[in-house]
Amino acid sequence: MPRGDGCSKHALLKHVTANDQNGWTVRVWLKRDSGQYWPSIYHAMPSPCSCMSFNPETRRLSIGLDNGTISEFILSEDYNKMTPVKNYQAHQSRVTMILFVLELEWVLSTGQDKHFSWHCSESGQLLGGYRTSAVASGLQFDVETRHVFIGDQSGQVTILKLEQENCTLVTTFRGHTGGVTALCWDPVQRMLFSGSSDHSVIMWDIGGRKGTAIELQGHNDKVQALSYAQHTRQLISCGGDGGIVVWNMDVKRQETPEWLDSDSCQKCDQPFFWNFKQMWDSKKIGLRQHHCRKCGKAVCGKCSSKRSSIPLMGFEFEVRVCDSCHEAITDEERAPTATFHDSKHNIVHVHFDATRGWLLTSGTDKVIKLWDMTPVVS
Ligand SMILES: [Zn+2]
Ligand SMILES: [Zn+2]
Repeated sequence: MPRGDGCSKHALLKHVTANDQNGWTVRVWLKRDSGQYWPSIYHAMPSPCSCMSFNPETRRLSIGLDNGTISEFILSEDYNKMTPVKNYQAHQSRVTMILFVLELEWVLSTGQDKHFSWHCSESGQLLGGYRTSAVASGLQFDVETRHVFIGDQSGQVTILKLEQENCTLVTTFRGHTGGVTALCWDPVQRMLFSGSSDHSVIMWDIGGRKGTAIELQGHNDKVQALSYAQHTRQLISCGGDGGIVVWNMDVKRQETPEWLDSDSCQKCDQPFFWNFKQMWDSKKIGLRQHHCRKCGKAVCGKCSSKRSSIPLMGFEFEVRVCDSCHEAITDEERAPTATFHDSKHNIVHVHFDATRGWLLTSGTDKVIKLWDMTPVVS
């Protein structure tokens, strides 16, 4: 698998926020004539910052804090000044996600207190709330239909329809075996992407109206951040493994099959170990059950000794397949539908700037990296 090729690193920003002598700060980094980035503003905050949402049109910066408050600022045109506008006492504890919706003048947020709430950014008034089943770590909004998507640590995605002052539960999605760590919404194709600590991304095809959900397997660790390049229809997923995976979403992928149940191998008929009767009758030793990722059949280890990637099913890495499926998969079908890049840090946040083709990643190493993605995202 090609790794670390393609995108080039543009700049490296050293970032030290919490625990340094300036306390908890918000900084605005400007590119200087020297080509280097330096902070134009250091703004001290009363509590550690946990999330933020920036609206470039209004230069409105909404910052979620560890103490449950959302602080709103307006940046000056030259980005050399930030003026406090208002504070929202939004949550009982840490704000985990925040989203400013300019069209409706709404501030959406989730907190460690397992609450989703939305405020009017004009009046600062609380408009409504909803109790989530676990702490939310993904938040997206569809402006057109006013649906909000909330991904939480139990692995569930909750979909609510928001009115001015109340909300109704539309549905919930469950597909991950780990917590949801990030959500990304494509309002044009009407697709929702969820990243999870189970290493996978699921593409929920809402616009297709067939209930299709495609799993994308391309990380060796937790998926922690997602971004979508709408103009090229590429999904960017970043993980704890440092991997940046750029998925071509123009490819028609298939759903993975349901795993079939059987008391004996569906290829060679040998009994599995719990099938005592057949083992006794035929004096055979019971085998372990495995499943072919392509056809879903229950097979023994001997009949599924080979591995293959199945990119058209979202498996960019090699997985177990039965011998007949292994023979049937062509080299063409094995062609990767994603590119792999090594960021060399544990990415916790990502932002893609489509106009420049730049990707910003920030990691647990307190470093912010800017990547020129134009060779890859095009
Ligand atoms: Zn077998
Ligand atoms: Zn098979």
